[in-house]
Amino acid sequence: MNLNFINFICWKKVTTNMTLEAFLEKTFHFTRFHEGQKETIENLLRGKSTLSILPTGAGKSLCYQFPSYYQQTGQTVIVSPLISLMEDQVSLLRKNGEKSVVAINSLLEKRSKKYVMSRLNHYRFIFISPESLSQPEILSYFKELQIGLFVVDEAHCISQWGHDFRPSYLALKEIKAQLSHPLTLALTATATPEVKEDIYHQLFDVEEVAEVCQSVNRENIYYEVVETEDKLDYLETFLQDKKVPGIIYFSSKKEADRVSDWLNARLPYLVQSYHADMSNDDRIRIQEQFIHDDIRVLCATSAFGMGINKGNIRFVVHYHVPNSLENFVQESGRAGRDGKQSLSLVLYQPGDEQIHFFLQEQTYQEKQDLLFLENKSAVDRQTFLSAMTDSQKKWLNQIETSQEGWNGYKQTLTKKKRQQELNIFKMMDYCQTSACRREMIQHYFNEQSIKKQTICCDNCCHEQPDINSEPVEEKQQNNQLTSQEKLEKMFFLGI
Ligand SMILES: [Zn+2]
Repeated sequence: MNLNFINFICWKKVTTNMTLEAFLEKTFHFTRFHEGQKETIENLLRGKSTLSILPTGAGKSLCYQFPSYYQQTGQTVIVSPLISLMEDQVSLLRKNGEKSVVAINSLLEKRSKKYVMSRLNHYRFIFISPESLSQPEILSYFKELQIGLFVVDEAHCISQWGHDFRPSYLALKEIKAQLSHPLTLALTATATPEVKEDIYHQLFDVEEVAEVCQSVNRENIYYEVVETEDKLDYLETFLQDKKVPGIIYFSSKKEADRVSDWLNARLPYLVQSYHADMSNDDRIRIQEQFIHDDIRVLCATSAFGMGINKGNIRFVVHYHVPNSLENFVQESGRAGRDGKQSLSLVLYQPGDEQIHFFLQEQTYQEKQDLLFLENKSAVDRQTFLSAMTDSQKKWLNQIETSQEGWNGYKQTLTKKKRQQELNIFKMMDYCQTSACRREMIQHYFNEQSIKKQTICCDNCCHEQPDINSEPVEEKQQNNQLTSQEKLEKMFFLGI
């Protein structure tokens, strides 16, 4: 059968005369748009590529789902950074009755993958990682599609990760060219002027790009920093009376495990750690239990949280200071997605920043070492492959396949290092300031009009707001048990 013919049948242009609001109600059952959604959708319907910066909880996925149903001009390809994020989006779409949706990632078995690729033009929404999309054999299938919209979800990753451990993000512009420059939507919750510049540079060509930018301010989050030499002790007191779900972020997996065990032995509810060393099954299970309030507090690394769909997270604690204000805002923004009063707390001890400088220096050295290969022949380079780290192999591949080559690599090397140092300093400023922390965040993201609010931060009002007003159901009272024992007990009781 002629697949191109099916393609034409499935994706012929259908334009409804309905107003956007009426269509929203009919198709998505919402009575109004969140701020920024309508503007983004209107741009796309007019055929204008768009960068949309919408705060967490503003319904970013509607921005690409809506045009697909309203004006069916082709398939929607969504480049997504994490498997868990893709799987979440796919299951949400399926729950809403959409069958023609697929995620192409390592969870897909070889045989299923072959099947999916052979009928790729049957799917309305296709989720894929930048690494998969940059593989020539996979890309060749995408070249046959009629792509109506090319979406880059969590677009700040282009800037944050592209230069370090996920260079495939830097190949997106080249990929778009091979896909005949599809209409593009870049979505993120935060973007500083530098990150925006990076997104424009790495993703958009000469085409005119519209920008939709909502305030980064989250009115329902109270910001606090506590300087303490005994973080564990402070944490235990803070958590003792909490009857609501929360996340504690750590910069190390070992610390997340250690503190989780320590808290479990002292608190009357279940605390669990979550990080990249756990199996995929364990991570999915823990995420499910957290979403359903079976686990009340998660001790997590940054591997957790992107795209997580849980409205009632009431607090986000940073046990270690994050390495940038941008990451801090992304992570603390996972609190209070339902709009109710929530809290962000950073536990700070002078010297905390050293770990970030150390890690950053390590990556910089690794990158510097690669310069040794610059004037070597391709054959010579091959002989050094076995001595290279995985990251170095990825960077080398990126250098050899990108137009900017070694010059581009060298230029960004120093620039990025300086930028990362500035990011750490800015985060320290946030911890040490005696001025309004909310205002500081907004200034950092270049926002000018700032309105004062009553419940703001510890520098404006000294009393923590009550975040306990909607406690989750008590599921167990298992004092003095480890998380494993508490989990076993929970399953045994069939709760
Ligand atoms: Zn304030």
